[in-house]
Amino acid sequence: MKYISTRGAAPALDFENVLLAGLASDGGLYVPEQLPRFTTEQIVGFSGLSYSGLAYEIIRPFVGGTIEDEQLRAIIEDTYADFNHSAVAPLTQLDTNEWVMELFHGPTLAFKDFALQLLGRLLDHFLTKRDERAVILGATSGDTGSAAIEGCRHSDHVDIFIMHPHNRVSEVQRRQMTTVLSDNVHNLAIEGNFDDCQAIVKASFAEQGFLNGERRLVAVNSINWARIMAQVVYYFHAALSLGSPFRPVSFAVPTGNFGDIFAGYIARGMGLPIQQLIVGTNRNDILHRFFSANSYRKESLGHTLSPSMDIMVSSNFERLLFDLHDRDGKAMAELMAGFDVSGEISIDESRWQSVKTLFDSQCANDDETVATIRQVFDQTEYLLDPHTAIGVKAARDCLASREVPVVTLATAHPVKFPDAILAAGLDAPALPHHLQDLHSREERMTVLPNSLAAVHEFIATTLR
Ligand SMILES: *Cc1c(COP(=O)(O)O)cnc(C)c1O
Repeated sequence: MKYISTRGAAPALDFENVLLAGLASDGGLYVPEQLPRFTTEQIVGFSGLSYSGLAYEIIRPFVGGTIEDEQLRAIIEDTYADFNHSAVAPLTQLDTNEWVMELFHGPTLAFKDFALQLLGRLLDHFLTKRDERAVILGATSGDTGSAAIEGCRHSDHVDIFIMHPHNRVSEVQRRQMTTVLSDNVHNLAIEGNFDDCQAIVKASFAEQGFLNGERRLVAVNSINWARIMAQVVYYFHAALSLGSPFRPVSFAVPTGNFGDIFAGYIARGMGLPIQQLIVGTNRNDILHRFFSANSYRKESLGHTLSPSMDIMVSSNFERLLFDLHDRDGKAMAELMAGFDVSGEISIDESRWQSVKTLFDSQCANDDETVATIRQVFDQTEYLLDPHTAIGVKAARDCLASREVPVVTLATAHPVKFPDAILAAGLDAPALPHHLQDLHSREERMTVLPNSLAAVHEFIATTLR
């Protein structure tokens, strides 16, 4: 299995090197040169497998022999054994033919655990083999940082530095990061906002002198192919439970960087009969504007009750555009260069019509989000987190056929976002059992000024 860049000018790499590289050297994103495709008989054969058994079957072709089968199986089993529900990604029914898939039973209560728990272990495996050490540097406004920390806390070959904007993440989110006291975990509270933290990450990748050439700098942001790969699995898992491959299924996905829903698109490309993929956005609705009006235009950022979807552009969207342009890397490089200048993409009408046969979209503002939380609670006594509520609203607004089951991806546990729950007039939920003592655990973090030099100095000193 080879991976190629969406911009056509970076070397093709195998899985191991794609995992370590993150972004391609030409600024593009890596995608498989050719998707593995399962026959109907093969998919039938997957029914009844445990989550990790299924994950092994789906992931194995992507890894393309860079890890021995038995080792890969062990890594995957270890990854999902850490989840707090034996079904790993259980389905809950909301209404006739309407379901949510709960992706919040991992250690940090959001779907990012599915990918980052695996990514941390895969990284450790390859670094051990190479006898190398790596530094992970990331910025977070909440969910990604804690999931990355949990994914790497046991790694002997990785030091992880996660920056968050000081006093600007919720208490639960901060404590999920700062109460991890492993020696290789370093939380930096930056006196600035999320964009400042991101700027420091970007500048550090451009100028790696502070590492003295002794360590590899690794990115764990949502463009890493391994994250998409891990997320493909739960689409198969849900569809198989609902009668696939003999029955098509639709999915609705609360979306920001287009990573989670893109995994659904990949699952379909591998042979899973997915009827519709429904994008839900908050008022940062660049994706909704693309799918409803063929206008992918950058606008200013708004803060919402669903902060994990507060984005201006969707970093994985380029992967879909690549397919829509017949995988022409040169055309993509031009398109993206144009976007850097004008801040807008609209594609050829016939290509846009063709993507619309699979994708649909809806956006929801905060009032609509809160109203959906309330509506679903009144109908079922089930409590949605605000991101999931946006997915449920999109599913209900866009579903083309009542006969096809629709599954909304529940991307976070409602306890992580109590403001939206309180706004819906409901009681904030209790922490799950395994996190009950979160508010009394010891915290560790370092407050630093918003300064590249200060962060580099801290990292250099810590590593020594
Ligand atoms: C990251 C996140 C999303 C958005 O996922 P993308 O892959 O960026 O589309 C949605 N909900 C929650 C809770 C998240 O943490």
